[in-house]
Amino acid sequence: MTPQEIYENLYELFPDAQCELIHQNAFEMAIAVLLSAQTTDKSVNKVTPALFARYPNAKALSEADVTEVEGILHSLGLYRNKARNIIRLANELLENFNGEMPQTREKLMTLSGIGRKSANVILIECFDTPAIPVDTHVERVCKRLKLAKEADSVLDVERKLARKYPKEQWRKMHHMLIFFGRYRCKSQHPLCEGCPFAAFCRYQKEKAK
Ligand code: SF4
Repeated sequence: MTPQEIYENLYELFPDAQCELIHQNAFEMAIAVLLSAQTTDKSVNKVTPALFARYPNAKALSEADVTEVEGILHSLGLYRNKARNIIRLANELLENFNGEMPQTREKLMTLSGIGRKSANVILIECFDTPAIPVDTHVERVCKRLKLAKEADSVLDVERKLARKYPKEQWRKMHHMLIFFGRYRCKSQHPLCEGCPFAAFCRYQKEKAK
């Protein structure tokens, strides 16, 4: 199956795939991304309305009482660390970027807790800049669908996707790969019945051995 055929089949399965972290601007997106480490987007969406109502910008969050922030985040795993991390990020925004979110990958990656994947998420969701964030779902699915090799690093996967798809498809492809990995091609017990990729996927081949 060609990369474009994979794109089309994913589109058939998940035409409405999109970012599931609720956010109104890049500041909220950065905070939501930090909070989403090792937890679900749904859990994050339960706490962010109260968090953003109380601390609507970097200045407000930089002055926050950490105990109060922990109270808002307490339903999330690692909430104590996350409370400290988002306050630190708010302080860095104030000190280094006048309280505004930077708009390049390089500058975003200078912020605490923002790695390449998170920077790419912020770029595509908030600044209309083509990028391909590769998370655990994207990596797994790309390897099963032979868009990348088993031994490829996360960066290899990103570069291969960037070569195989035109820029205007990057954002949609990213969302469809996440939805496919999250809801169907799961890490354990993927839902393979009727899958359009079953005839050539690596997982099926391994299983048949
Ligand atoms: S057949 Fe199963 S493992 Fe292979 S791509 Fe489809 S859902 Fe994933």
